Amino acid sequence: MSSILYLVLPCYNEEAVLPDTAATLQSKYQDLMTQGKISRDSKIMFVNDGSRDRTWQMITELFRRDAIFCGVNLSRNRGHQNAVLAGLMTAKEKADVVISIDADLQQDVDAIDEMLEKYEQGCDVVYGVRNARDTDGFVKKHTALGFYKLMQFMGCEVITNHADYRLMSRRVLESLSQYGEVNLFLRGLIPTIGYPSDIVYFDVRERQAGESKYTMGKMLSFAVDGITSFSIRPLQLITLLGFLMLLVSVIMVITTVVDYYSGRTVPGWASSYCSVWFIGSVQLLSLGIIGEYIGKIYLETKHRPKYHIASCLWKEKDIDEETEKDR
Ligand code: UDP
Ligand code: MG
Repeated sequence: MSSILYLVLPCYNEEAVLPDTAATLQSKYQDLMTQGKISRDSKIMFVNDGSRDRTWQMITELFRRDAIFCGVNLSRNRGHQNAVLAGLMTAKEKADVVISIDADLQQDVDAIDEMLEKYEQGCDVVYGVRNARDTDGFVKKHTALGFYKLMQFMGCEVITNHADYRLMSRRVLESLSQYGEVNLFLRGLIPTIGYPSDIVYFDVRERQAGESKYTMGKMLSFAVDGITSFSIRPLQLITLLGFLMLLVSVIMVITTVVDYYSGRTVPGWASSYCSVWFIGSVQLLSLGIIGEYIGKIYLETKHRPKYHIASCLWKEKDIDEETEKDR
């Protein structure tokens, strides 16, 4: 029997791309169903991440038109990662296998076939990895590649050029549901879960409509989140820096003492002024990094829910069911 596949698409102000996305996915699903690759109970799930435009109305219209679509409406904008997680955790109740993909379909949907093949061969996770970065501008391309390098240096197991286009089996999602962290960085978290995994390569195209919701600021805070959620290497680097500074200080003290006894000491305004600045800045930087972690501990100890689902759209046994939760 073929597996029930749920496709999870986070949507934030995506009214411009939704009609195209829905049409493309609908025909993709029909192909997969006729070929017997997925069960007829498979669904395409849109997660509305507190959009301010007509996104949720459009999702509702799609759901009314075809039972292949379903929707999850978050109470407000919670960010891409939380929206994906909300979709994954909702889909895991119904699906055998789930694939997350962006709503703008910049990632090639034809890679789904290959992902499913790998799943049938026994993989629990299949990572979608992009072939080239030609569609990105110079800055985005190099900041992205630098980001993966930095993450790996910091000891986080990220897969280069893999974003959140991935297949996950139900048991991976069950495992994922046991993680309680508030600062979500799925692409670092999933590899730590384990189980057999593989990679599928795909091409990225340009966004067809609407604009990128990932501003430079959002990307930067995402990178900081990724590092501070997974690695204590920055703290270790501070310790290393401390040791190096200690070594330098010892040499400085020895030379100063030697200079003093050989009568060569001249009141050095410049050197002391520079050291005050240098040490001051190192201390501030160190305090800042430690502060990042303390902030994280603070947030994690709250155990706040990561999202609230305001309503769900399900179509079962031909009855439209709208549930209201977490009111
Ligand atoms: N997204 C979201 N919540 C946000 C920001 C983005 O759900 O707060 C979704 C967005 O609708 C899209 C995906 O995350 O489906 C990736 O965003 P986008 O395409 O803007 O990012 P880019 O491809 O430019 O990195
Ligand atoms: Mg995009």
